[in-house]
Amino acid sequence: MNPLTSQSNLGAIDAAHHLHPFSDMKQLNEKGTRIIARGEGVYIFDAQGRRYLDGFAGLWCVNIGYGRKEIAEAVQRQMNELPYYNTFFGTTTPPTTLLAQKITAHTGGRLNHAFFTNSGSEATDTWFRMARVYWKALGHPTKTHVIARRNGYHGSTVAGASLGGMKHMHEQGNLPIEGISHIGQPYWYAEGGDLTPDAFGRKMARELEAKIDELGEENVAAFVAEPIQGAGGVIVPPATYWPEIARICKARNILLVADEVICGFGRLGTWFGHQHFGFEPDLAPVAKGLSSGYLPIGAVLVSDRVAKVMIEEAGDFNHGYTYSGHPVCAAAALENLRIIEEEGLVDRVRTDIGPYFAAALKSLEDHPVVGQVDTVGLIAGVQLAADKGTRRRFAKPDDAGMNVRNHCLENGLVMRATGDRMLASPALIISRSEVDQMVETLRKGLDHLRDTMT
Ligand code: PLP
Repeated sequence: MNPLTSQSNLGAIDAAHHLHPFSDMKQLNEKGTRIIARGEGVYIFDAQGRRYLDGFAGLWCVNIGYGRKEIAEAVQRQMNELPYYNTFFGTTTPPTTLLAQKITAHTGGRLNHAFFTNSGSEATDTWFRMARVYWKALGHPTKTHVIARRNGYHGSTVAGASLGGMKHMHEQGNLPIEGISHIGQPYWYAEGGDLTPDAFGRKMARELEAKIDELGEENVAAFVAEPIQGAGGVIVPPATYWPEIARICKARNILLVADEVICGFGRLGTWFGHQHFGFEPDLAPVAKGLSSGYLPIGAVLVSDRVAKVMIEEAGDFNHGYTYSGHPVCAAAALENLRIIEEEGLVDRVRTDIGPYFAAALKSLEDHPVVGQVDTVGLIAGVQLAADKGTRRRFAKPDDAGMNVRNHCLENGLVMRATGDRMLASPALIISRSEVDQMVETLRKGLDHLRDTMT
């Protein structure tokens, strides 16, 4: 028995000493923390031994599922050989270099270089600085402004929270910092009005063009967006959106940054989300599925266009983290990518379990409180609605989401709610019967909402 897990008073210790991220600590301490002690496949087990189907793969990250011994073994081997060395001042370690080769190999020759970080937030800070260094090195020092989207999410550091378009994050800490602007999001269900999804997609993309005109092209470095907004509610853009965004970035000569922290490593049935939508970013932050969350590691994938300038023109890039390319994290990531490759998980999502998951979840569209179900690969957003005919939302959207989410949790299913959207993002190894179990429990949660809220 793991002595850390068997300690009996963990709840009290947690309340006394542990401040949790994204939590109202007063409420949490009153209710008590759920202590997760073990994981196996798509299941997690709490300290009392209760089993939950994790419909969210941790935080959109445990792509290969829990309990893979191969990763533990790869980590142990690397720990014994070299637990740490850095990548500053002209050094590297074997797993770090091999990981750079392996990740970039899946970008179809587009993003051939990797700069390592420990998280998605650090990857955001990294490309944000790199984009400015790039333009300065090219003789355009005024090209510094970055355009992002309302309700986007790019992390919790000062730059990450500023680039993200989350009002509740901006309100804490006088954000965003200078040099960042936000445009609207392609959320047709809530904001599309009478427009068709395609017309709305084009309209929202053209907000980028208008914002560049307002700021002056000579002042804009980059536009950043998630291929599918994750934390914002799994907002799948209309088909017209990304082609128009890509066209505008090219025409106006600004860098296009695809935040692949959630969409990367098979989630959409392609190695990266931009491949699903068919556009070519200049920079792409990644994390999460890179190691399936087994150890913290992220990276910025860099196109030849940007790397050439960084290598040949920019001189020292005065940026990096003590643990950039940490050898043990890199060994875990290498083993994770080997598993994804050898088990054909990306193809499985595209051709087998993804379509099954889509059909199973779409069956919920017959439910009176479901307005629309959006899925791509193994990510889904289920839109709750008080009146599906008119797309009328519940008066208290957050309460509606929490109503369903809590019912699911009480019945052994972890889902996430963003406002009145129920989000799912299970491990890529989920079986058909586990998908069925997930949808059945979710349907009961929707019944509970119908019976308890109007
Ligand atoms: N970018 C996106 C799209 C994310 O979803 C997240 C985290 O959820 C981040 C960046 C930040 O990553 P991290 O939490 O590893 O710092």
